[in-house]
Amino acid sequence: MPDTPSEVTIRSSSGGGRQNNKNVHYKNNKNNNNNGNSNNDNNSNNKIKSKSTVVTSALPYANGEIHIGHITSTYLPADIFTRFCRLTGRKIYHVCASDDFGTPVLIRAEQENKTPAEYVDLWNKRDYEDFKLFGISFDFFYKTSSKENVEFVQYVFKRLYENGHIYEQGVVQFYCQYDDKFLPDRYVIGKCPNCGAENQYSDLCEKCGKVPDQILDPKCAICGRPPVKKSSKHYFFKLSNFSKQLKEWLNGNANLQSDIKNYVINWIDEGLEDWDITRDLSWGVPIPMPDAKGKVFYGWFDNHLCYISTLNTLIQEQHEKVQDKERQNQKQQQRQNQNSSSKSETETETDKAAERQQQNYDIDVGKKYWNNSEIYHFIGKDIVYHHYLFLPAMRMGINEEYKLPDYIPTRGHLMLQNQKISKSRNWYIGLRDFASDFNPDYLRFYIASIAPYSQTDVNFDWDVFFEKINNELIANIGNFINRALYFVQKTFDSRVPKTSSDYDLDDRSSISEIENIADEVSGLIYKNEFDRALKRILKFATHFNQYFQKKQPWNNQATANTTLFIAVNAVRSLAIMLEPFIPMSSEKVWSQLGFDNNNNDDNNNGDNSGSGSSSSSSIHKQQWTSASEIKIQPGHVLGKVEPIFRKIQTKDIQLQKTKLGKQEGKQQQQQEQKHPEQKKQ
Ligand SMILES: [Zn+2]
Ligand SMILES: [Zn+2]
Repeated sequence: MPDTPSEVTIRSSSGGGRQNNKNVHYKNNKNNNNNGNSNNDNNSNNKIKSKSTVVTSALPYANGEIHIGHITSTYLPADIFTRFCRLTGRKIYHVCASDDFGTPVLIRAEQENKTPAEYVDLWNKRDYEDFKLFGISFDFFYKTSSKENVEFVQYVFKRLYENGHIYEQGVVQFYCQYDDKFLPDRYVIGKCPNCGAENQYSDLCEKCGKVPDQILDPKCAICGRPPVKKSSKHYFFKLSNFSKQLKEWLNGNANLQSDIKNYVINWIDEGLEDWDITRDLSWGVPIPMPDAKGKVFYGWFDNHLCYISTLNTLIQEQHEKVQDKERQNQKQQQRQNQNSSSKSETETETDKAAERQQQNYDIDVGKKYWNNSEIYHFIGKDIVYHHYLFLPAMRMGINEEYKLPDYIPTRGHLMLQNQKISKSRNWYIGLRDFASDFNPDYLRFYIASIAPYSQTDVNFDWDVFFEKINNELIANIGNFINRALYFVQKTFDSRVPKTSSDYDLDDRSSISEIENIADEVSGLIYKNEFDRALKRILKFATHFNQYFQKKQPWNNQATANTTLFIAVNAVRSLAIMLEPFIPMSSEKVWSQLGFDNNNNDDNNNGDNSGSGSSSSSSIHKQQWTSASEIKIQPGHVLGKVEPIFRKIQTKDIQLQKTKLGKQEGKQQQQQEQKHPEQKKQ
């Protein structure tokens, strides 16, 4: 075996994130895989700390479909990273939730004659299905309107209140005397002062896209009557209390992108304004104060707390499952004991005390998991303010009971054909539409290859898409895979041939390419540079295309065995390394390599979750470092070989271009942004 550097295998010894005592829960136990037949014998380089990881993706607003822009800035990068970590054996959870509260949801639900809960439920399911279609593999996709989140938000508010970070103040706002309610921005319509369009929301003109300073001829959106102005008591979060602490944290965290850090520090230096965290609304997390009836929290107070409450819920559920099992075992044990002897009263008391202690400890199981993990919040640059200031300040305000993020990978917006994505102008591509015309992995591949780790905006261009997919994914990667496997199927009756021992220079350089690749690519992925990682993988495929072409196994019987032996192993390496990027296609390559029906010797079982297949030989459960090993032995039988990808035709691209900007068949009233309320405050 080559002396390839590799990461250490870190797995939960008990599985499922369970934490049963105060000892270290995650340890290097490379020989402790579930099936006990792990083949890693070269774990030496401990590159990552012995910790678990929690990845969160910004919450999609439960009020419209997910489009390619959302995928680019947030969900795809988070998924690539998560899938990669799973392959390294690192314990990782990717959690997300639908952002259910807010005025736009309430208004739309009323328009559609649904309760807000019914309405957001539909979007929660729809979003989750769309994500799944594109291989975005959450360990848990929950909702901000969950009981657990509501309780947690109220708890955090109370703690902030006790700690002196909340104050009350009257706010003058529109009030409809006829409907007897305060009208949040979205409930006031009028004439846009910028472009003169009638019937626009007071916080967003859908005609010109601007946020009006003051809407003209304001009217109540419910009854159409002009509202009056009236004072209402609101709660404010003293963000300004945290200026110094935030600055220290930003300066001290070397993992944050420095350009973003710099302008956030500028905001702090300019002076932070306190946040009005109250809305006079019926749909939201109720404010847990005796005199706050009819008031709820502003969406940005509750939504990012849902990262924590969702993780807590997941860990708690898993913990309970493990406990149930333990209790059953204990009962069984007791029954056996009772048969031989009976317990004294003191013994029973001790048992009960231990049980109580155990239960108390359980409440904190999610918190401990959070605090023992590296925390990653993947976001788009439009919500920097909330994630670099508001979110850490709130956690500081409750004495960092839940630790601050270690990383906040922030990416730019996606332009479409050099124009801003806009749902109202139908200048966007919904995920379902894309998937009905193309392999979802094409989107993943294309986006991963063009999006850098920065807040620079990137452009989705149909012509570049066409070229990247046809020339890089299909003509380079797909071509090599198909050529190598098809040759073995045709010439060697699908059996990997016996290799000779005298490798020439080309063979040796190819072997060393395999030996080095896993480490090189993982280095780039750890740095969040997925575009560069993918380029490196493409270089690997180019190398093997050239190797195959040079060796001409169809003409050289003497060396064909060795060429194909090495080439098939290179295909295996490619399949593993491409899994984070194009998981569905990797699965196909894996099956063509003959690894899906237990006829393989490359079985590496783990307790990873969130992937499509439950089979232990699944591509999603392989060991990343084994991409640098020669694992396929002579005699191994391949599966059925066929082309993995289908070339894109010019006419397919033409059709896509004509679809943009046309209004038919799509809802026009879709929201412009994921979070219409997310203005800098
Ligand atoms: Zn306007
Ligand atoms: Zn009214």
